[in-house]
Amino acid sequence: MKWLRPKNVRVRLTLWYVSVLGSILLIYSVSASIFVFLQWRLEVDGVAAEEVETIEGFLSFNSEGRVYLRGSAHDHPYPISMQHRLMEVLSDNGTVLYRNEPLGGRDLGGAPFSGEGVNSYSPRSVTLADGTRVRVVSRRHTVEGKATIIRIGFSEEELWRRLWQLIVGLLAVAPLALAAAGGAGYFLARRALSPIQRMAQRALEINAHQLGARLTVENPDDEIGLLATAFNETLARIESSFQQLRRFTSDASHELRTPLNAIQNVGEVGLRKRGNADEYREVISTMLEESGRLTRLVDNLLTMARADAERPRLALTDIPALEFVKEVASLLEVLAEEKGQILSTDGDESACVLADRMILRHIVINLIDNAIKYSPFGSHIRVRVFEKANQFVSIEVEDNGPGIPVQHRNKVFDRFYRIDEARTRETGGAGLGLSIAKWGAEAHGGGLELHCPPAGGCIFCLSLPLGDGRLDRCSLGVSLEPQRETEKSANLAN
Ligand code: ADP
Repeated sequence: MKWLRPKNVRVRLTLWYVSVLGSILLIYSVSASIFVFLQWRLEVDGVAAEEVETIEGFLSFNSEGRVYLRGSAHDHPYPISMQHRLMEVLSDNGTVLYRNEPLGGRDLGGAPFSGEGVNSYSPRSVTLADGTRVRVVSRRHTVEGKATIIRIGFSEEELWRRLWQLIVGLLAVAPLALAAAGGAGYFLARRALSPIQRMAQRALEINAHQLGARLTVENPDDEIGLLATAFNETLARIESSFQQLRRFTSDASHELRTPLNAIQNVGEVGLRKRGNADEYREVISTMLEESGRLTRLVDNLLTMARADAERPRLALTDIPALEFVKEVASLLEVLAEEKGQILSTDGDESACVLADRMILRHIVINLIDNAIKYSPFGSHIRVRVFEKANQFVSIEVEDNGPGIPVQHRNKVFDRFYRIDEARTRETGGAGLGLSIAKWGAEAHGGGLELHCPPAGGCIFCLSLPLGDGRLDRCSLGVSLEPQRETEKSANLAN
């Protein structure tokens, strides 16, 4: 049965087309023939009814009580065509009163059925004893005071012969029509599918090294154009993912190489020159500093890889935002103090956010740490918490540092993006902090935006969904011991 399902779509379409057309032709031929046949029979019924009336005028009873037709066989006063009709006259109780010559001794319909010919003509088809199919029309009439049933019969053989001729004639042209339709269908299917074939060939040529190539869209509004457009859009997304991956790999290896080189260089220099214990200690502490930077970087890379690989599973709890922010700020207070900066927190005490505690801590530490890192000595860093009208809570970290130039404002959220390579290398950032913070905010259904007031400085606005608990239901949950917490925060703020 495999031949019934050819692989080629063109052939399949053509076969479908031909079989549907064939079925339609068959149904049409049969129903048209039946309709025409019924029409013919209706005409016959009309003529027969007229002839019943004509014949009735020539009927008479003889002395034996039988019916005869007035007028001689050669001189009939009724139309000559009627002489070939089959005629039968019955009495009311079914006694045969007359049968004409063409009918011979045959029975034209048997005993009268109830209501036959009463009030109107009764047409029906019967088969005579010799197998002849006949259309019989009967009508009751009173002839010379006696009730009779007059039957006129038309041979249906001619009608059936014409019916078969019609059917055969219609079906004879069907193979020709189907062959022509099949040829045209195949041609059209080939024409319609040829762009798909071209697209498939082009698509096969596109590989990982040619992701910039696109399919030609001949007509963007038709189905094939839409398919090509959708394919091109998918290619564009794949290309951009490839580019991102390449950039990420090269940036990540670059970032990893820098502290590794530093460790190696410092170690080699330390080994080469003879020094005292203090000098060795300094070498070791530099190496530890670099390895700490490496650890933070690897942590951040892991966070990014997880963020890319899976949908974040958030352990959402109601968190009193201001208390939480104060707790986190207190961990970073020491860094601000080192730079003589004032780190203040204020805002709406009752505002609660629905967030994952670890991720929220990561975000807030990144934002405050950046503010401390990039603001000058003696500046003021302000963290504010307030409830917004749209069921969100805003945590804003504002500093009066150098701000971010317009051309960098969108890009600072990109991975590995740093405005000033030299300056940020000094402070230890790899350009991942803000991208992780933005991902974290969006994973909560919130967002992270940057505003730079004309007077200078930066305001990072973190929006998170409002928690549905009241303050007494919210838990604080900064549970790590101070020392571990400091370590952790240093890890989180890259
Ligand atoms: P990094 O690890 O370099 O701090 P981030 O993703 O946290 O990476 O920040 C990206 C860049 O945005 C930083 O390198 C810095 O140039 C700039 N930036 C971030 N926060 C501030 C800020 N508060 N003030 C000025 N520049 C900032």
